[in-house]
Amino acid sequence: MKAVLFYRHGGPEVLEYTDCPTPQPGASEVLVRLRATALNRLDVWVRNGWPGIKLAYPHICGADGAGEIAAVGPGVDPARVGERVVINSNLSCGRCLYCLAGLDNRCEQWELLGETRNGTYAEYVVIPAVNAYPLPAGFDEHAAAAAALVFHTAWHSLITRANLRPGESVLVVGASGGVNTAAIQIAKLAGATVYVIGSSPQKLELAKSLGADYLIDRSQEPDWHKVVYQMTGRRGVDVVVDNVGTTFPQSFRAARKGGRILTVGNTGGAKFEIDNRFIFGKHLSIIGSTMGTHADFAAVMELVFKGALKPVIDRTYPLSEARLAHQRLEAGEQMGKITLQIE
Ligand code: ZN
Repeated sequence: MKAVLFYRHGGPEVLEYTDCPTPQPGASEVLVRLRATALNRLDVWVRNGWPGIKLAYPHICGADGAGEIAAVGPGVDPARVGERVVINSNLSCGRCLYCLAGLDNRCEQWELLGETRNGTYAEYVVIPAVNAYPLPAGFDEHAAAAAALVFHTAWHSLITRANLRPGESVLVVGASGGVNTAAIQIAKLAGATVYVIGSSPQKLELAKSLGADYLIDRSQEPDWHKVVYQMTGRRGVDVVVDNVGTTFPQSFRAARKGGRILTVGNTGGAKFEIDNRFIFGKHLSIIGSTMGTHADFAAVMELVFKGALKPVIDRTYPLSEARLAHQRLEAGEQMGKITLQIE
C-alpha cells in the first residue's frame, strides 16, 4: 500500500510517501480502506519526537480517518465488510477498571492511533472493530475525519469533565485551531455565552461565523484578561478553555471566583510559571483531560452527523503532499482542519 512514513525524527522533510506492506487484521480487528485523514498538532509532535518516545520504525502518523471496512479479523461480523466508517483513535483494553467504569480514555493500556501504533496517513489501517464507527450514507469522509479527534476532545473537556451548563460564560483562548473551533461550537450548542481571544481579524471572523458572541484581538489587546474582566462586569467568566498553557496567568485573571480552567494541550510549550495565589485565592479548578470516551464519541459524532456541529476544513492535500500539509500546520496559517485525500 501507499503510505507516508518516517524512519527518524525531524522536520517535514523526514516524511516519505512510499510503498509499505498492507497490515492484516487480527482477532476483533478490522482493516479500513482510508479515503480521508486529518492532521492534528499531535502528528507534528510525534514526527519531531520528544525525550523517551519509542516508535517502531518506519512509523506512520495520523489519528483521524474515514473510509470503509475492507476486511475483518476473526470474531468480527463479516457483514461489516464494505461498511463506511469513521475512526475513534482512542484504543483501550475494554477490561481494566477504568474501561469497565466507562472511563476508557484513562485505560491502563490506553493507546492513540498514529502515536503508539501506525496511523492513518496510508491507504489502509488496522484498528479494533469497536473503534470503527458507522458513517451515515452521504456524509463526507473529509468532514468526518476532520471532526473526530477535535470534537471528541472538546466534548469530553467541556461537557463530560467541566459539566458546562446553559447560561454560563466560556472564554476560548485561540480562535482558529481544530479543538478551539470545536469548543466554540459545542459551548454555543450547550447554551453558553462565548468569548474568543484571537490573533488576527481573519481568525476572529471565523470564530464569529461559528457563533462566538464576543471577539478580542490579542494583537490589539495584549492584556486581554483585563478586557474580558471589563466585558463581564468585573466578574470574570465561568469557564476558560486554555490549550495554550503559557497563557494560564491571564486565564486565571479572566476567570470568575470558582471558575474552571480547562486544558487538553499546551501549544505554547509544556513548562511555564504560574502564580498559585490566583488558584486558591479565587477558588479556581484546573481540569485536565485528554481525548474522550466511547460514549463521548457516540454523543458528539451524532451531533456532527446531524449538522448541529460543523467541522471547519482549511485545505485538502493529496496524501503524497503530506510534507506541504505539515509545513502549513506548523506555520499556524490554517483556519480549521487540514485533511489529506487518499486516492
Ligand atoms: Zn482498559
